[in-house]
Amino acid sequence: MARSIDAILAEVADRLEWAQVRFKEAKDSGLKVVGLYCGYIPFELVRAAGAIPVSLCGNDANAIPSAEVELPRNFCPLIKSSYGLAITDTCPYFHFADALIGETTCDGKKKVFELLGKLRPVHVMQIPYDKNVPGALERWAEEMARVAAFLTEITGIEPTPERLAAEIRYENDIRRVLQRIVRTFERRVPSLTWTQMLSVRSLTDFVVDRAPYLALIEELAEAVELADAAAADAAQSPLPRLLITGSPMSPETNKVMRLAEDSGALVVAHDACSGTKMFDRLVDEDGDPFAALTRFTLDIPCACMSPNDGRVELLRSSVAVYGVEGVIDTVWQACHTFNVESVIVQRACREELSLPFMKIETDYSSADEGQLRTRIEAFVEGMC
Ligand code: SF4
Ligand code: SF4
Repeated sequence: MARSIDAILAEVADRLEWAQVRFKEAKDSGLKVVGLYCGYIPFELVRAAGAIPVSLCGNDANAIPSAEVELPRNFCPLIKSSYGLAITDTCPYFHFADALIGETTCDGKKKVFELLGKLRPVHVMQIPYDKNVPGALERWAEEMARVAAFLTEITGIEPTPERLAAEIRYENDIRRVLQRIVRTFERRVPSLTWTQMLSVRSLTDFVVDRAPYLALIEELAEAVELADAAAADAAQSPLPRLLITGSPMSPETNKVMRLAEDSGALVVAHDACSGTKMFDRLVDEDGDPFAALTRFTLDIPCACMSPNDGRVELLRSSVAVYGVEGVIDTVWQACHTFNVESVIVQRACREELSLPFMKIETDYSSADEGQLRTRIEAFVEGMC
């Protein structure tokens, strides 16, 4: 008998909770684990080199005080949490990591990778910040080749074009299923909330064996499609439709999304790295897989890019596809790239798309929840 959406989501939560055990089993069987901190580092390449990729972006506020002993207090909470978890050895995924791959997306991370290099072998990929400058694609292709060589040193396995092509097809299959699931948010009454979807997407970052994960999200896609079809004649939802953009969040650091849903908004789009940004496109499966992956990753519209026209293009298309009626831009404290880019997002929302817009700069603590709740409630009320 087909399972309910709630039953499938309970299994997602269960797998997230037990993922560390799968990583321990993988390590015990001799597999290498490689920790990553950003979507510019493709999972496909790590797997093609025979290692298991895992996201090490910190989401634990409790790890921050330890990091603040060495790092500035006025600093991105995501970086502080990541670093605190590493130096206190309180993150099982960092504990299991044989090596780390970093990137120069922002100054804070770039410098912290120097410190993390004391704990694990680290390779840092140098990001070309303007993809339109002649030679940017070639430089990024060289970075791909350098990181492929680093991975081969760790695992002894070369990520050949054949192995990489197979991994691209697998990751694309996952992206296709996630695309099917988020189509529910095009409806007036979606069958999921975005806080639930955040957990579903987040699980992709902690998977050793992808076959059961793919089967689970396929089951969810089918259940959601069934529920959507059954609710075809449901009454129109009067809830205001909100897009949450900005810095990535996790199920543990989603306070803005949670408060927005509590305030009566229907969050129908989340175009950050923790949302659709990492699966709304597919890697080209025809031709040279290294070239296809190089192109795909260079086109990620992150605020570290300058200019970053893709961010507003993605916003425009999300607004159109999901019928968005208001936008909240979430910026982690002291994140200069997302903070400054917020002005561009604000102009696009207010001047071009005629949408209400609000920026929220916050951190991982709950100290500002009361104040945020008041602001978000007022914003949502204004959308009605
Ligand atoms: S927001 Fe930018 S730096 Fe952060 S994970 Fe996404 S691509 Fe990487
Ligand atoms: S949120 Fe901003 S400061 Fe923090 S890691 Fe991402 S880009 Fe860097």
